[in-house]
Amino acid sequence: MAIRRIWHYTKQYKALLFVSMVTLIFSIVLDLVSPYLASLLIDDYIVGIEKPWYRIEEKVEQSVYYNGHYYIQERFAKDRSILNEDEKASIILINNRFYFSGQYIVDGKKTIAEEGRMLWVEKDDGETIAYYLTPLSAEEVFHFYQPFIKPVTIIIFIFALVSVASIFLIFLYRICFLKLGNRVTYDLRRDAFIKIQKMPISYFDEIPAGKIVSRITNDTETVIELYSQSLVVFTQAAIYFIGIYISLFSLDVTLAAFSMLLIPLLVVWGRIYRKKAKHNNEVIRSENAEINAYLNESIKGMEVIQAFNQEERSYRKFMNHNDRYAEYRQKMVVLNSALSGNMVRLLRRAIQLAILLYFGWGALGFYTFISVGVIYAFVEYMNRLINPINQIFGNIDVLQQSLVSAERVFFLLDQPEEVMEQGDGPCFERGEVEFRNLSFAYEKPNYVLKDINLKVKPGQTVGIVGHTGSGKSTLMNLLLRFYDYEEGSILIDGVDIRKYPKQSYRRRVGIVLQDPILFTGTIASNIKLNNPSITDEKVEEVLIAIGAESFIRKFSRGIHEPVLEMGSNFSVGERQLISFARAMVYDPAVLVLDEATANIDTGTEQLIQHALQVVKQNRTTFVIAHRLSTIKDADFIVVLDQGRLIEQGTHDELMAKRGKYYEMYQSQLQHVTD
Ligand code: ATP
Ligand code: MG
Repeated sequence: MAIRRIWHYTKQYKALLFVSMVTLIFSIVLDLVSPYLASLLIDDYIVGIEKPWYRIEEKVEQSVYYNGHYYIQERFAKDRSILNEDEKASIILINNRFYFSGQYIVDGKKTIAEEGRMLWVEKDDGETIAYYLTPLSAEEVFHFYQPFIKPVTIIIFIFALVSVASIFLIFLYRICFLKLGNRVTYDLRRDAFIKIQKMPISYFDEIPAGKIVSRITNDTETVIELYSQSLVVFTQAAIYFIGIYISLFSLDVTLAAFSMLLIPLLVVWGRIYRKKAKHNNEVIRSENAEINAYLNESIKGMEVIQAFNQEERSYRKFMNHNDRYAEYRQKMVVLNSALSGNMVRLLRRAIQLAILLYFGWGALGFYTFISVGVIYAFVEYMNRLINPINQIFGNIDVLQQSLVSAERVFFLLDQPEEVMEQGDGPCFERGEVEFRNLSFAYEKPNYVLKDINLKVKPGQTVGIVGHTGSGKSTLMNLLLRFYDYEEGSILIDGVDIRKYPKQSYRRRVGIVLQDPILFTGTIASNIKLNNPSITDEKVEEVLIAIGAESFIRKFSRGIHEPVLEMGSNFSVGERQLISFARAMVYDPAVLVLDEATANIDTGTEQLIQHALQVVKQNRTTFVIAHRLSTIKDADFIVVLDQGRLIEQGTHDELMAKRGKYYEMYQSQLQHVTD
């Protein structure tokens, strides 16, 4: 149902669509008019000099003087009574020379004799008539052409006008359709982007970024062709088709009715084609997405690929997709020439055969009432019918591709969104956090968190420790509502966090991610995140407060130092400091710090330690720490082990207990002293 959805987008631009269609239709009409004008010019005027001339008594308007008499053609005579059937003369063009004959020359095989002074005309019945001829000088010919000048000028003028108008209209409808296509693509992209921002984080775990990018860029791009090509071609074809059928019906109803049999044939053929093409195009589009996804991954991971000599393997994996893409493209080429090209050839033969049969029977006495003229015209029209069919089948491929692409975009747009209360509104104040019987699995039945119970008073600092993969980040992901949980609940100030409006909730809960993300821009823009209420002074103040002053001084441009994509020009520690500041300026009531696992030098570690001291004041803070020294003075510490909360208490209590925490602490001390 991609078409209906596309219509939904198109109808936003009804006026543009209307203008596009009207200009297109007019350009087609003009296109049909110009050959008519040309034939008029040739048949009636240029060759029209050979039509009968009447010798008349007196000079009248549009008459021509020649050799002592006045001559006029029937169509130029205002008063027809002056024309006498016995006074007809002829002008005839033979071998590039004009001749005058005092008599009207009948149809037949003409032979010139006596050095151009005699003409023999052999009629169909075998009788031969002789005429006297007078060769005409150029000047005399010009005289005879005099009456034509005005109408010919008018026709040429109209012809020129029509040509110019037609060129202009073609220009106009092309622009309009492209504009329409651009607008719709623009809207599709906009909606797709809005959509991905509403997706739950789990969606991005499942779908590689490159694939999403491919849907939003390549697939929407292909939709443009629906307007710039398919719509134009199909409208043109439809108009020609209808026009030709009208002509057919006005010629001969029975014949035309018979030729209607063509339509179901075309429909069935189109269906078969569509079905086959759809599958191929789906593979093509999805392989295109795979290529994008793999490219994206490879470029990001080029360091690993090169460092570990993975070029060959990586190349093969890429080529798998590339090969399959090429293979299906080739399949489409074969399908197109087999089904659409041959279709047209087959039709042409079928039509010819049908006409032969029909008129063959006619000759045997079944339909004796059909004239030769009708047969000729009919064959001619049927031949012309092939053109639009040819066009439709030549473009059905493009149409199919656009539709498949559109379906892919709509598939993305139809994905379920993050279930969350939208908008702004009152949120919690104090920041008392409680996890109640919380269990969670990214993919069931692999539970990553198992029955977590934890209560944190406002303003407390909680250290979360545990081996890698024990579920520390996951616990915080749930608190930040990146993922939806089903079993158990998380409450802040006694209310389930899912009940709070999303925007205000996110403003009250700050985060410093384990792998800090920076965006292209400057240090300041990464901290402010485009919030105009945060001034440069405020940014500097926060940076100084968390002790990042020396780090900022390092740069000549200070807080306006540019940040490259993903912050690749900063170290992990520096990135973390920037995201500390980012969390700080929003002054959240609950703050989550996921310490970076990467090795940070002692200097930076002290910096971060200090920053932490500042940041945690006046808010409920969760600190996921790998260096246990970081959280030694936390209000209390929880220990996670394979998704279970196994220990809880202050540093001293846990040390005294000699459990898991004690074990971990001891082993870390060991490392430090090593
Ligand atoms: P680390 O100390 O290394 O940061 P962690 O305690 O933060 O570890 P989590 O990131 O919470 O560990 O991961 C806990 C488990 O959940 C891991 O076994 C991991 O395989 C799994 N996991 C994490 N993220 C996802 C995800 N997006 N989809 C599926 N499974 C995931
Ligand atoms: Mg983690």
